[in-house]
Amino acid sequence: MTTLIVGGGWSGLAAAVTLIQQGHSVHLIESAKQLGGRARNVLWRGQTIDNGQHLMIGAYDRMLAMMTLIGVDPADAFHRFPMDITIHDTHYSPLNLSANSFLPWPLSLAWNLIRSAGLKGFYSVAKLQSSIPALLLQEDITVSEWLLSTGQSERLVKQLWEPLCLATLNTPIDHASAHVMATVLQDSLGKGQAAADALIPRVPLSDVLPHVAANYIQQHGGLISLKTRAKQLIIEQNKVTGIICQDGATLSADNIIIASGPSQSGDLLAEHIKTSKPGEYPICTIYLQYPPNTRLAKPMLGVSGTSSQWVFDRSEQIPGLMAVVISAPGEHEVMSNDTLIEHICDELKGIFPELSETVSDSLVIREKRATFACTVGIEKYRPESQTNIKGLWLAGDYVANGYPATLEGAIRNGENCAKSLLNQD
Ligand SMILES: Cc1cc2nc3c(=O)[nH]c(=O)nc-3n(C[C@H](O)[C@H](O)[C@H](O)COP(=O)(O)OP(=O)(O)OC[C@H]3O[C@@H](n4cnc5c(N)ncnc54)[C@H](O)[C@@H]3O)c2cc1C
Repeated sequence: MTTLIVGGGWSGLAAAVTLIQQGHSVHLIESAKQLGGRARNVLWRGQTIDNGQHLMIGAYDRMLAMMTLIGVDPADAFHRFPMDITIHDTHYSPLNLSANSFLPWPLSLAWNLIRSAGLKGFYSVAKLQSSIPALLLQEDITVSEWLLSTGQSERLVKQLWEPLCLATLNTPIDHASAHVMATVLQDSLGKGQAAADALIPRVPLSDVLPHVAANYIQQHGGLISLKTRAKQLIIEQNKVTGIICQDGATLSADNIIIASGPSQSGDLLAEHIKTSKPGEYPICTIYLQYPPNTRLAKPMLGVSGTSSQWVFDRSEQIPGLMAVVISAPGEHEVMSNDTLIEHICDELKGIFPELSETVSDSLVIREKRATFACTVGIEKYRPESQTNIKGLWLAGDYVANGYPATLEGAIRNGENCAKSLLNQD
């Protein structure tokens, strides 16, 4: 019995690995010429970089387990360090959310917060954290409404919560789901120090998982076809029997897992299943090549009150290379690449005077449909992996799991979908 998987992003690959591991026969098709989907390699000046800067955390346990299973040592793939977030602002002094202290976790976090935001700031954060259980029992509200109801100061909203919401939900706070944000905070801050560790890839993204997963799948007898686009599902008497590809070829299968992105899956399913396509938001990554000896004070730094939101020092891969991330929609979208680069260089120079004014090279990558919009009530609209059509299954980061669009969510949904399919057989 063969399962056809549509989409070679991290979710489709996780589904394929899980099925193969149980001795199931798998054929994965991917429309692009490479695997990895929204977390993949890009060639630039003969060097390999990422299509967008990604940050993983210690709480990504299913991702770490999947990597270990297929033979990637997370210690080789990531620079892992205790949570150490400093957010610089154009008006306020830097704010620290950091585990670096002589005190044990979580006192370390409290200590650094008190030092940078005062006792009042600390109490506000504690109040928000303690409101989570009640929040999750009521109807979802926006993150802005939640922040207001717990009396967060203008400074904390601007310099802490807004940057964290954009980084984790990629959705502006006036629209973002407080339930999803609360779940993320619970998982990252409420489960011990290791869960909050930051993991920055030290190898290109496709080498963190997709390439190795592909080897694993093929070595265990699975088939992978690149440049193969599913165009139409074949469904007879409420049972899926195959797909028609863009080139007209028909592929038959007993089970099909659709693991493409939310809008692509919506297009494939539209004729057969009533789905509500979520909105999607962009993420822009600007690579700036500074002189090779340039280093940031920390591997990643937050900035608020600017178009730039986070700056990552990618020197471990390419000395002097910085990746600046701008999540969600904003004024940067209407700027040309040249204007944007100049604007970002000026901003960074203003905040980090030690940086040189100009860069020797730069690249802007705009991922227009980076993540689904994590808006209020989103959980009600996310589909389950099992559909009403026999043999038709859904994976991908947007399938229901309570989390925003993340690599951990993508892997979790791929694995869970494969396990449900196996249990049903
Ligand atoms: C710039 C950027 C930054 C991000 N930052 C982070 C971060 O810091 N941390 C984090 O955890 N997550 C981050 N994410 C989100 C994360 O990358 C995604 O949640 C994850 O990659 C989604 O994986 P997926 O397999 O569900 O979907 P996708 O990666 O979209 O994979 C779907 C695949 O299906 C293929 N496909 C589509 N239609 C068809 C078809 N008809 N036939 C065949 N194949 C098809 C596509 O080409 C694609 O390869 C970021 C995303 C972006 C773009």
